[in-house]
Amino acid sequence: MSTPSDKIVNRYNKSFCIKPFTEISNSAIGERMLCCRSEPVGIKIKNPDITEDFFNNPAMHEIRRKMLAGEEVKECWICKETEMASGKSHRTFVMQDFKQAEVDEIFNTGKVELRSLDIRFGTKCNLACVMCGPGSSSLIAKEEAEEEYQLVDLNDFSLDQIKKHSNGIVLFKTTGGEPMLLPAYKKTLEFFVEKDLAKNIEFTTITNGTVDYSDLMPLMNEFKFFKISHSIDAADESYNYVRWPGTMSRIERIHKRIVENSKQYKNIKLEFGATIHVLNVHQVVKISRYLETLGMHNAYNIDMVHDPDYMQPGLVNKQVLDELEADAIEWQKEKPGEYRQEILDFVATLRYNYNKINSNKEHKQELLDTLEVKTIFWKAKRKLDVRDYIPYYEAMQTKCK
Ligand code: SF4
Repeated sequence: MSTPSDKIVNRYNKSFCIKPFTEISNSAIGERMLCCRSEPVGIKIKNPDITEDFFNNPAMHEIRRKMLAGEEVKECWICKETEMASGKSHRTFVMQDFKQAEVDEIFNTGKVELRSLDIRFGTKCNLACVMCGPGSSSLIAKEEAEEEYQLVDLNDFSLDQIKKHSNGIVLFKTTGGEPMLLPAYKKTLEFFVEKDLAKNIEFTTITNGTVDYSDLMPLMNEFKFFKISHSIDAADESYNYVRWPGTMSRIERIHKRIVENSKQYKNIKLEFGATIHVLNVHQVVKISRYLETLGMHNAYNIDMVHDPDYMQPGLVNKQVLDELEADAIEWQKEKPGEYRQEILDFVATLRYNYNKINSNKEHKQELLDTLEVKTIFWKAKRKLDVRDYIPYYEAMQTKCK
């Protein structure tokens, strides 16, 4: 059966993607991205004008040329990797944002037209998740004493750019830092509603879920469609370790309120996203069970960490994957359904990552050593021991040595 990746490769080529032709995207510290998943392009976009970069920068021209010619674009390695593992990627997902004829036109003519914004307003965040870094969380920057990244604030800059490029925008996405803690977030919603542009825009927010945003729901409902994805990387006490200093008990209370309050708004859609890494592989099915208790079983998205490399899920022992697979099969049998099948497909992606890591034992040991150094650092700073929260951690470190 042909995969979404096969279909795109057959119709276009192995590297073409619409994002560099249609989207302005920035990282939380102000670097130009091609989309939220790509590596930074190496252009600081903080000044003077991001449109100039987007339309005229030679680096962007070269990336587009390579994409049209089917040449590899190094900034997009993550899509290449995930397509090899699962036949799907962010690329195959975003190509569906536009009609086939529109994508064909871009491919055939190389037309560059700004249609979407993917803006981060800075690094302010109240969590220090284990797979995150100082360039995305001010709390991590503070913990790691990273002066350069401590509270990068792009609020005014981003809002200016949004106002300048608002006409013609049909997609808007933002993440953080934590967007709900950043003043430009609410101002952006108000701006689009006041200008009567919200009705044309599908808006996506990725939040860490620690802020009850019920008061913003009336504004959000003014948009054509408003998706809010809540990051949830564990559904038991492991949460308290992997999303420190967040706690499962608090997040559960907020989830329940948000789910209840959102029911009256027809344009708001809630989602829950898990990023699976070496310390939460055992949570994949647990999160699904938890979402069923919220009535959100069809709103679960799973992805895996590639970077930093010492957080890759394939570092776990084979037994952890076997147990997860057995759990996923059991879960699927209880009530067969498409979303449960997706979990089984995801286990296959984790096995691909496991096999790749185990093809080089020396490098695997280096990654595990780096992970151990990180957990020692977190123990000193956060007063939490990974061995108290992640049941297979000790065996994983012992077995490889
Ligand atoms: S190929 Fe992937 S990483 Fe590159 S721009 Fe498209 S979606 Fe982003």
